Amino acid sequence: MSNLMFRTPKGTHDVLPDDQQYMTYIKKSVRHRARQAGYRRIDPPIFEDRRIFERGIGEHTDIVEKELFRVSGKKESDANDTEFALRPEFTAGICRAYVEYGMQQLPQPVELYAIGPCFRHDRPQKGRYRQFHQFDLEVIGLKDPSLDAQLIQVTWNIFKDLRISDRLSLQINNIGTSENRKAYIEALKDFFIGKEGRLPEEDRGRLLANPLRLLDSKNEDTQILLKTAPLFTQFLSEESKQFHDTLLEYLTELGIPFNENPRLVRGLDYYGQTVFEFWDQSTGSQNAVGGGGRYDGLIEILGGKPTPGVGFAGGIERMIWHMKEAGVRVPNKDQVDVFVAQLGPEAKKKCLTLVSQLREKGIHTVGALGEASLKSQMRLADKFQSRYTLLLGKLEVKDGTIILKDMQAGKQKQIPYEQAIPEVIRLLGEKNLDTYEIRDQMGQMEE
Ligand code: AMP
Repeated sequence: MSNLMFRTPKGTHDVLPDDQQYMTYIKKSVRHRARQAGYRRIDPPIFEDRRIFERGIGEHTDIVEKELFRVSGKKESDANDTEFALRPEFTAGICRAYVEYGMQQLPQPVELYAIGPCFRHDRPQKGRYRQFHQFDLEVIGLKDPSLDAQLIQVTWNIFKDLRISDRLSLQINNIGTSENRKAYIEALKDFFIGKEGRLPEEDRGRLLANPLRLLDSKNEDTQILLKTAPLFTQFLSEESKQFHDTLLEYLTELGIPFNENPRLVRGLDYYGQTVFEFWDQSTGSQNAVGGGGRYDGLIEILGGKPTPGVGFAGGIERMIWHMKEAGVRVPNKDQVDVFVAQLGPEAKKKCLTLVSQLREKGIHTVGALGEASLKSQMRLADKFQSRYTLLLGKLEVKDGTIILKDMQAGKQKQIPYEQAIPEVIRLLGEKNLDTYEIRDQMGQMEE
């Protein structure tokens, strides 16, 4: 039996160093594509007044009803205290910020993006965690199908950067205005009168609380019944149909492949008109990598003036999974360039400076600088898979030299101590050094 005392909570995981390279790569692509398209970054708090999610996403959605991580602000619960919840997604919080900071005064549309952890108290299973990461894009303040098309294009470009776009299929639908949905929901309810008994229990609950969700039910009996149910398209307003057709025309113009999917509804109440998801081509919607849509009523629900918006959220863990499945290799920048080994107090002191000078030059340097024998330090250098080792013993200190060993070739040479850094730079190549300039920004700050 393991004597481990503590583990990560159920449904959570550490992002271990080996997975960081994927995370970093995805974040880089998101930042790059978002900046290209004029988005600016926002980091809403990880927890918010839970009414923002309840009202925004909807009381009867799975996310709010079953999966909201509630947190109380105080140790002892106080009835009057605001109840908080960990964010299950970004859109509601970002719209709250849009209203709170008066962003309607800015040139519209306001384009914002976010990257970070979200929380849902879901039943953990493959690709479904209690803490996961999303990247999120929001375009608020203007309504036009060209904005929906451009948003989809930004996400498509990100998936192309990650080399997973050919594993995904874009599913798209238009779920009309709230009047269209109301009328359709009535028709659906009428249709199911007398047929409730043939629905599984979960879907019977949906019929009462959120009938639209029946459309994307995974249950076969429900799907068979739905074959003869009224179709949503019959209830779509002319305006919605036009909006949708124009959007599809724009997607075609941009060369983005899509599948029209009249059963796609998404599990969040704030959506209206456009909804879309990127599905795993092989397994279907259970493993959607991301989804989004229009939420023209959300800002008003959160206390702002009626303001249109369209957004997208992608699940980073699922993207990493796809990248690994597709064999995508991402650059690993954690390699060790130089291991510094030393023997004796004088050498150790000199190495302390040497290590720091190497690092300043942008060379990834590990210096164990302990009391171990040279032999065991060399073994350690091997384990770190360092490309070169610099070795300074008592003799070398006396001579003013240092030993440089190429770990792969297994060859070593003795060189003057002052030559150590220039020689390592020459071997690694100037352009491969890990340097970071912040002078430009500093210059701007001083102006
Ligand atoms: P949603 O808006 O609920 O469709 O979420 C957007 C994306 O976030 C999904 O397509 C998933 O990729 C990801 N996602 C949502 N919930 C989870 C979860 N519990 N664990 C991992 N990823 C998730």
